[in-house]
Order: sequence, then C-alpha cells, then structure tokens
Amino acid sequence: MGVFAKRSMAKTRRRRRDLDQIASDIASPRHLELYKETKDVEDLPGLGQHYCIPCAKWFDTETNLTSHKKGKPHRRQLKQLKDGAFTHKEANAASGLGVDNGPVKPKMDMEIDIA
Ligand SMILES: [Zn+2]
Repeated sequence: MGVFAKRSMAKTRRRRRDLDQIASDIASPRHLELYKETKDVEDLPGLGQHYCIPCAKWFDTETNLTSHKKGKPHRRQLKQLKDGAFTHKEANAASGLGVDNGPVKPKMDMEIDIA
C-alpha cells in the first residue's frame, strides 16, 4: 500500500502544464496569474521569481533561467507551441471521422480540356 502511494506520487511529481494551457498563459497574462496563485511561493524554487512561461517551469536563479532559454529543451518546447496543441478535429480526422469530400480534382485537367 505504501509503495503504491509512493509510485503514484512519483508519476505526477514532474507533471507540467499542457500545451493548450501554456498557449492560454501566453495569450492572457491573467490566465497565468491565476495559475501562479494556486502555488505557494515558499514551495517554489527561488521563491517563484524566475519562471519560464513556454516551459511552465520555475528556476532558482536568473542565471539558470537564462541558460535554460538557450538550451535545446526550451527551443523544442517553443517549436511545439508554434505547431499548436492537438485538437479534437485532428483526433477525429485521424480516427476517420469527419467530412470526406473525396479526392480533390486538380484544376489543371480543365485547362487541358479547353486547350
Ligand atoms: Zn523554457
């Protein structure tokens, strides 16, 4: 029982915010402010002063934050945010749901018929 509880805690310990939440944070400062209010400042590294918004991570010093912003994980996260979050529309399309208008006919055919 005790081991199980420890395992489930470890699984959620490093859980960060999802891409859609981060996109909302970037879009509206109020959204981010509300999230930060849920955290106790005393529990955060560096008293919650150094926060990377795209990665949703706290850092203990300004130096660590700036070196993080030069690193690969940060750039990878920026790229993921640029690509956008996975939507219900994409999920439905992947499973075969949605509107299928058949194969798209290229416009070139008509021009060839006329000529
Ligand atoms: Zn970052």
